Amino acid sequence: MRRVKPVLVWFRLDLRLSDHAPLWEAAREGGPVIPVYVWSPEEEAPWSPGGASRWWLHHSLTALDASLRAAGSRLIIRRGRVVKALADLVRETGAVTVYAHRRVEPAARQLEEEVVRAMSERGVKVRLWADSNLVDPDRVKTQSGEPFQVFTAFWRRCLALSDPPRPLPAPDRVPGPAVWPRGLSCERLELLPKPDWAAGLRATWRPGETAAGERLKRFLKDGWREYATRRDQPAEEGTSRLSPHLHFGEITPRQVWHAVREWAEGQGWNASRWRESAFLRELFWREFAGYLLWHFPHAVERPLRPEWERFPWREDAAGLRAWQRGRTGYPIVDAGMRELWHTGWMHNRVRMIVASFLVKDLRISWLEGARWFWDTLVDADLASNTMGWQWSAGCGVDAAPYFRVFHPVLQGQKFDPDGAYVRRWCPELARVPPEWIHRPFEAPPLLLEAAGVRLGRDYPEPVVSHAAARQAALAAWQSLRAGR
Ligand code: FAD
Repeated sequence: MRRVKPVLVWFRLDLRLSDHAPLWEAAREGGPVIPVYVWSPEEEAPWSPGGASRWWLHHSLTALDASLRAAGSRLIIRRGRVVKALADLVRETGAVTVYAHRRVEPAARQLEEEVVRAMSERGVKVRLWADSNLVDPDRVKTQSGEPFQVFTAFWRRCLALSDPPRPLPAPDRVPGPAVWPRGLSCERLELLPKPDWAAGLRATWRPGETAAGERLKRFLKDGWREYATRRDQPAEEGTSRLSPHLHFGEITPRQVWHAVREWAEGQGWNASRWRESAFLRELFWREFAGYLLWHFPHAVERPLRPEWERFPWREDAAGLRAWQRGRTGYPIVDAGMRELWHTGWMHNRVRMIVASFLVKDLRISWLEGARWFWDTLVDADLASNTMGWQWSAGCGVDAAPYFRVFHPVLQGQKFDPDGAYVRRWCPELARVPPEWIHRPFEAPPLLLEAAGVRLGRDYPEPVVSHAAARQAALAAWQSLRAGR
């Protein structure tokens, strides 16, 4: 029988119409559907969305509303506590069910529990789906029933599972209620920065489900084949740049998975070749991050290896500021930090280099880095950011060992050999020849002068000597190991 009472579809980090089980199910049932988004940053504190994420969210919500309107519906936006906002809507509309996706972040999970409790007190049923990830974290365990802590073992176990279900299409029509409850315009959430610093973001990105699908298509056509060889070269667009779209749920990992499958089958590839390809393997790093956060929620604030609580991090406001501004005197680090500031994104290789520089050369806590990334990345994602930082600091599971200190000059020379990436983001070094571009502080002064650079005036002197900082970092690590 056709449902007559409305269902609330509570949108969270799933800002799309296609492959959206709660929306699909609600529309399929045929009764009125009320799509809702509740802006409640305080309930996600201290990890409420940062500046770049807010910019993205504004545009993503706007795009979602437009898509819903094209399907005969609209997005009702409310602000304030989620439980209250949903309870108000239940009262105003007579809804008897709430459909939503589950999330993996600790505060979001707590919120879900509160919603389920509060709704059941009102006789409202809450149905939750877990489609933001390819695998259910509770289904994938080691033989002894523990969560995996090593990526390769986790990945292998996931590959042994059957393929994820095929993605759902978007509903053609989303039936609405006779009378719509009132909602806020997106502008009222004041997500856009004031003063407006988002020109670089606007020039780089187009948030929303349509743009996400187009980006995936373009990547499959132009980038996918070369991914394994080009993915470590920051000067090139060798990666998909799907991360913000995946974070905001404008596209799902299973849509990506099946698009890759279709493409590879079209090329006559056998299943193991595409299932184990470098690109899908990276997608499983995202899975691993969500999985770890699910099983170890304390990781957002505390090291996964408990002995790291005692690590002697340095307080260094000037060093932190130089790192944040891209003024460390190490060109590959500075280029990365400026790319981040300008576009809200940074290439993965460079994220690893700048993270190593902060936690090892400057010996500043990984949490400071995680917080800065949180505020400035358009793809800031609590699971991936936490894992990336703990991996870099050596205090996470399956992490890079602390004694393996990235050499910022050698990394630059290896992954940006002619300096194209550095020249793009540090234009003051544009005329420095390739031999010196990653170490201007060692270049003959006359040569630098000919390139229009005087250190300390046009480009900073190094804030630390890498060799000395490396020794100090290793000594700190030894003291941790010795339990001093
Ligand atoms: P592609 O290479 O095209 O990969 C496809 C997708 O796989 C990505 O979109 C992403 O969802 C996933 N992926 C790829 N590499 C990783 C990885 N190492 N860890 C987790 N998922 C991965 N990623 C975020 O999405 N949000 C973050 O906040 C974030 N913070 C990071 C912090 C540090 C210190 C480090 C070292 C890495 C961080 N990453 C984060 C992971 C990675 O840098 C980005 O996912 C990647 O650069 C996104 O670019 P892309 O979409 O072109 O990736």
